Amino acid sequence: MTNNKKVLITGASRGIGQASALKLLNKGYQVIGTATSNSGVDLLTKEGIIGLKLDLNSNKSLDEFARRIKKDFSDILILINNAGITKDNLVLRMSNKEWIDIINIHLNGVFKISKITLKFMLKARWGRIINITSTSASTGNQGQSNYASAKAGIEAFSKSLASEVGSRSITVNSIAPGFINTDMTAKITEEKRRGILKQIPLSRFGNPDEVAELVEFLVSDEASYITGQTIHLNGGLFI
Ligand code: NAP
Repeated sequence: MTNNKKVLITGASRGIGQASALKLLNKGYQVIGTATSNSGVDLLTKEGIIGLKLDLNSNKSLDEFARRIKKDFSDILILINNAGITKDNLVLRMSNKEWIDIINIHLNGVFKISKITLKFMLKARWGRIINITSTSASTGNQGQSNYASAKAGIEAFSKSLASEVGSRSITVNSIAPGFINTDMTAKITEEKRRGILKQIPLSRFGNPDEVAELVEFLVSDEASYITGQTIHLNGGLFI
């Protein structure tokens, strides 16, 4: 029985994180979800999720979060590193801040949150870490050198960690989505969207729930022999 285990999902207030949180909650998991604002935390609480505030780009917020987790939730056995944003720009125009913010929120964030919760998993000799990366980690993407680099770094981090902790029945995998219908892709112009759709064999963007299905499988006991992998979920965009 895995499904009363405690799960931490970063960025659970919207999109893929929210869909994953609700799916796991419905399956009986105890879900802790993060948001950057008080209203986001309230929204999570209303859904029956334990809502906590976390800004991965703030050391102060990270410190407070780590203290709270260690004090009250030292039985987290499943971590979904999902939170993320984009700050796209061509390399020549990209500011240091645009670069650093993305590396902080994605790559540094995954390292820090994994390190906090890994201790609980090691103690229990069981655990699951799922990192949400992106097709752009494999393909690169114009205007996304910061984002693609961070996501590729996370995939390499996942493989390294998977080999470090496999002997304790802890699996670490990445899910690399293509274009998924969330606030993150809502800003894509109609013209650009038409161009993207031509490159997707299934001719549509995916839905957050389709990513959540894979999250649910990878955290289950049925996925116990899958580790160190990047699973692509992109309608055929990258084959
Ligand atoms: P989304 O709908 O925009 O939601 C982003 C989530 O991340 C929100 O819960 C947000 O919290 C949280 N977040 C934003 N900045 C944060 C920060 N500084 N610290 C902590 N949390 C923060 O995004 P999404 O499309 O579901 O994306 C989820 C993950 O999938 C991301 O890692 C993204 O890179 C990846 N991904 C998405 C797509 C896609 O097509 N959508 C494709 C490939 C990969 P607030 O609500 O408080 O802002």
